[in-house]
Amino acid sequence: MSVTVRFAPSPTGYLHIGNARPALMNWLFALKNGGKFVLRYDDTDRERSRAEYADAIAEDLAWLGIHPHRVERQSQRIAIYDAAAEKLKARGLIYPCYETPDELERRRRRARALGRPPVYDRAGLKLTDEQQATLEAEGRKPHWRFLLPNFTDDPFRTERTEVHWDDLCRGPQTVDLASLSDPVLIRADGSYLYTFPSILDDIDMGVSHVIRGEDHIANTGVQIAIFRALGAEPPIFAHHNLLTTADGEGLSKRSGALSLRALRDDGLEPMAVASLAVLTGTSHAIEPIATMEELAVTLDLASVSKSAAKFDPADLRPLNAKLVHAMSYEEVAERLKELGTEGNAAFWGAIRENCETVSDALGWWKVVTGPAKPKVDDEDREFVALAGDCLPDEPWSEETWSEWTKLLKEKTGRKGRGLFMPLRKAITGLDHGPDMKRFLPVIGRRNTLDRLS
Ligand code: GLU
Repeated sequence: MSVTVRFAPSPTGYLHIGNARPALMNWLFALKNGGKFVLRYDDTDRERSRAEYADAIAEDLAWLGIHPHRVERQSQRIAIYDAAAEKLKARGLIYPCYETPDELERRRRRARALGRPPVYDRAGLKLTDEQQATLEAEGRKPHWRFLLPNFTDDPFRTERTEVHWDDLCRGPQTVDLASLSDPVLIRADGSYLYTFPSILDDIDMGVSHVIRGEDHIANTGVQIAIFRALGAEPPIFAHHNLLTTADGEGLSKRSGALSLRALRDDGLEPMAVASLAVLTGTSHAIEPIATMEELAVTLDLASVSKSAAKFDPADLRPLNAKLVHAMSYEEVAERLKELGTEGNAAFWGAIRENCETVSDALGWWKVVTGPAKPKVDDEDREFVALAGDCLPDEPWSEETWSEWTKLLKEKTGRKGRGLFMPLRKAITGLDHGPDMKRFLPVIGRRNTLDRLS
């Protein structure tokens, strides 16, 4: 079976790490199965959709490492939806309704008070042509509902009608169409709700698998019924759990801090974000995975937990640090330059384990080049001056530090922390940092001597 998946964001805001989850799961699924990935902007809501968000989404996906094979905008496909809607009207499969949102809300409340499920009573279906004409003369415009196939002959005598699907994340699922209201497909202003365009496009674009958040699970039964009404076999569905913060808070509220752009601006690596977004709430350990291809190997939709995927944004930095510690000089050389450092392979080798993000390298570069503010405690002043006098001649190597400190140990009897810390503080201005064995030759003899005298 050839695999085609889609990611269908509404361009109404920036992507956050919670949206990265379905985007990545689809991308990884395509990667693993040699399939195609469609980026489809769900932008039929004209009021809320904005072109700048659509551009930002494409940019954020590219940063993550997602490169769609095809990009579509639903706002440019309205003629296709109109033609399909006309066909459904002609077949009596969608019907006009004139209730206002207030009227519908009142009916729902009444049903609840009577202990009945708040299912739409198909009042629109009873309207005669004359009644419709009268309502329209009053200035009312119809919205259109899909007539769910949950009856034999009489739509007002619904009967249990089960729809089944085998969810790749959640296993066998059943929905009774008699428990649902006929879904509205077209609003009174003529615009489409997401359901209908989404189904038409899934059919038209040959989508084989719909992988999305479990917030859509309630819609799936209805969507399967519509696929069948359109004469199409529904795709395979997978509904993954949603990401929440450790205290169960949904992510949309926090989307500012956890937007992909904010994480990128914080200097986080895309693969750290991707690893956390995908592995949280699965049976796989949360660890940084260095490439999409390797992350794709871990993808197992059946191992996605059925409960919410709680994650701690504080995990991002340690994951990032692990990725950075394993990066070769070749991988970061360009970025070191962009940061404004002239650090070479020896510099990167000395400092990478002390970087949480690649941009931390800039701080270490400043320590190398100075001006440094040597920190020397009074009781160490004499020792530091002596150390300056005993500084070995160049060329320096990774042996220099141990030769030098061995000599100083013999001369002063100092050892351990009392020997090393005053030197580190004098040379770097800090009481922590890279292994001096590798850092000292990077700082070089001239800078070192300056800081010791
Ligand atoms: N625009 C919908 C969303 O972002 C798409 C849902 C779907 O994938 O079918 O939630």
